[in-house]
Amino acid sequence: MSAAPLFERPPHCPNERCPSRGEPTACWRWVRAGCFRRLAAPHRIQRFRCDHCGRHFSEQTFRTSYWLKRPELLAPLFHDLVGCSGFRQIARKHAASPQTVALHAARLGRHAQLFHETLRPKGEIREPLCLDGLQSFEFSQYHPTLYHVVVGQRSHYCYGFTHSELRRSGRMTTRQKRRRAELEREFGRPDPRSVEREVARLLAVVAPTPQALELHTDEHTDYPRALRRLAHLQVTHRTLSSRSARTSRNPLFAVNLLDLLVRHSGANHKRETIAFSKRRQSALSRLWVFVVWRSYVKWFSERRGRETPAMRAAVCAQRWSVERILAQRLFPWTVTLPACWRDAYWGLTPTRRIRQLRAHRARYAV
Ligand SMILES: [Zn+2]
Repeated sequence: MSAAPLFERPPHCPNERCPSRGEPTACWRWVRAGCFRRLAAPHRIQRFRCDHCGRHFSEQTFRTSYWLKRPELLAPLFHDLVGCSGFRQIARKHAASPQTVALHAARLGRHAQLFHETLRPKGEIREPLCLDGLQSFEFSQYHPTLYHVVVGQRSHYCYGFTHSELRRSGRMTTRQKRRRAELEREFGRPDPRSVEREVARLLAVVAPTPQALELHTDEHTDYPRALRRLAHLQVTHRTLSSRSARTSRNPLFAVNLLDLLVRHSGANHKRETIAFSKRRQSALSRLWVFVVWRSYVKWFSERRGRETPAMRAAVCAQRWSVERILAQRLFPWTVTLPACWRDAYWGLTPTRRIRQLRAHRARYAV
């Protein structure tokens, strides 16, 4: 992290309940309130006090490394999370514990969510979209997860994703079928309407305003039902068999490529791996980091460079570096997340086999 001062004047009061929240920044009054020294660089930190609510805060309050013992790990871990390593491998590389990596991954995931929400287009979408489901699992192969992803057909920009729990299907031995029945008796069965509901929620978030949309998908039977739930959209739905050759001429190439890159970049989504996600919540954090990296950092073409998917989708004019993405902390009360993404932010995504939720209940470090 940079040791340079973050700002000339603090941008806003960090207190969620401060009466100055609704006022223009120019009217907000604050005073300098000394400084403190700390072990990690930058060593001298300026403190402030809000004149409206009296809350003390510092320059550090506005850094993404707020309250971290090893702030220097945040940017390298962002790269490592999309560098196809398991948490323990990453931890060994940085002489940290796997819990430290998990904690940083969760923070990076939350930051990535807010970052994407501030930049993603909320109006008319000017390109055809591709939608597909990426299958993985949490805890064990008895608990498959389907990640529904929407990608721009021309830009390859990832507009967002939601997820559904699935019932284990496919070829199973008699013993495996018996085990599935036992688990379903004890932990319940996933909602069979989840795919339809989550795809509808995703498209409603990606295209919140009335508009015409061209959507390319495979022949999944839940998609037409999901589209019927979206009265505000005029969708031209084009389907293609999932058995079609997955070349660059395939209309679903953008989302097929994203699927490949997710498995290439994230150790937890590889087949036959021991680095699979034990909790879906953790997989969501990693996937949000991946979405931001893929859309804003990675070049559209590694060979030619020149532009990122976000630049092609006219979301921004230049490539974002990881350091720039992490330059300033974002607050969940200044960026409003859509309802379907809020549970992932607050750590409320359940895993059937693990009763205890690791909800994110920090009072200040949110
Ligand atoms: Zn205040």
